[in-house]
Amino acid sequence: MNASLEQLADLLAQGKASSVELCQDYLDRIERHNPRLNAFITVDRERTLAEAADADARRAAGQAGRLTGVPIAHKDIFCAEGWPTTCGSRMLANFVSPYDAHVISQFKAAGMPCLGKTNMDEFAMGSSNETSWFGPVKNPWDARAVPGGSSGGAAAAVAARLCPAATGTDTGGSIRQPAALTGITGLKPTYGVVSRYGMIAFASSLDQGGPMAPSAADCALLMNVMAGFDARDSTSLERAPEDYARDLAQPLKGLRIGLPREFFGEGMAPDVAQAIQAALAEYRRLGAETVEVSLPNMDLSVPVYYVLAPAEASSNLSRYDGVRYGYRAAEYRDLLDMYEKTRADGFGAEVKRRIMIGTYVLSHGYYDAYYIQAQKIRRLIAQDFVEAFKACDVIMGPTAPTTAFDLGAKVADPVQMYLSDIYTIAVNLAGLPGMSIPCGFGADSRPIGLQIIGDYFAEARMLNVAHQYQLATGWHTMLPEGL
Ligand code: GLN
Repeated sequence: MNASLEQLADLLAQGKASSVELCQDYLDRIERHNPRLNAFITVDRERTLAEAADADARRAAGQAGRLTGVPIAHKDIFCAEGWPTTCGSRMLANFVSPYDAHVISQFKAAGMPCLGKTNMDEFAMGSSNETSWFGPVKNPWDARAVPGGSSGGAAAAVAARLCPAATGTDTGGSIRQPAALTGITGLKPTYGVVSRYGMIAFASSLDQGGPMAPSAADCALLMNVMAGFDARDSTSLERAPEDYARDLAQPLKGLRIGLPREFFGEGMAPDVAQAIQAALAEYRRLGAETVEVSLPNMDLSVPVYYVLAPAEASSNLSRYDGVRYGYRAAEYRDLLDMYEKTRADGFGAEVKRRIMIGTYVLSHGYYDAYYIQAQKIRRLIAQDFVEAFKACDVIMGPTAPTTAFDLGAKVADPVQMYLSDIYTIAVNLAGLPGMSIPCGFGADSRPIGLQIIGDYFAEARMLNVAHQYQLATGWHTMLPEGL
């Protein structure tokens, strides 16, 4: 069950297993472990096995691609035809998508069956998966701990090998932070590389889909499926297709790693700091050099994000009005009352908090003071990275300031929760690619992630940098006990 995507593809290509058999094995694992982990919102054995049978038929007809028949789980933010698509919300609890997101249609075209829809924070707002209408996800390494968020279900499912790989989305850290907290590899691509069509919108100028899997080599294969131009997303970038696995084998000699002064100050837990330093030492052994760089506006990234992301969310979520689809209050007096009751019951507390903040910062008289100011600082933050990349090829640091915290530990204090993304958010504001790879364990035996940030479109290089580390270390192959 600890097989890589390459190994699973080989099993299928050599006829040693069928897609139906592979899917049955994973579905059995889901059946056994999901009641405890709650990583999946929807599992549909028949639908999955029908997709697997299609993949086997394609292979029998000689029309299989490299990954045809290898199953994958999708974050429940991606609309998938015929599957419930809830976005972790009561508002969409009964919504069955009539169409496929671009990412879903890409995986279908590759012949990869869907193992189910993974749990997530409501509308991707959260860092612990505790805002889900469908209940929290448990971290497979320690059931008392959160798996991170918002792609917490995807991360837990991959960490427990309930699926070989999964999709996630990252608006402020939602692929990287849960990847770090569960000991897996996750990549948030450059903004615009993966289409947002059919990916339920949270903050459109920041949202980006990406792969989550045990290793960087797996993520490279998934990127080859997910990435690419799509005219249905107006911010999708029209670029020549690339092979994200092309540089995996390159040696790292001469690689310049930038270490931002602002990442290595106070705030990072001592056990996290120790693991990051050990990872950097490994990189030096592999031939890389480290240079100090600076991101002087880093400390403004969380406050700027919590103006811009809620502003965009308040606009995006205005569509959930009980009229067209989704939840509608059972009883109401008139139209206005229907809107009010629907939105009061359909949204959870965190989503309401964001809608109120967003509406406030966009309102007359505050727009200039908050929204416009935040946009200006966003530009400065992006500029900081441009300067930093003059001195280095990639930037490294922690993904999260601590290991996974306990369930319930931060629910009463939103600001503490928001600070768990302190190292990831600037990357989204700048539109840059970022990834997290496992690099050790904390004092509490919970996983730690190393963050790798690249320049625009440097995904292939970042995957190479991650892969070479994974060839030299074994963190990404470790499994939680009992799984
Ligand atoms: N934790 C951040 C938030 O709550 C980021 C979430 C995300 O990337 N979707 O907004």
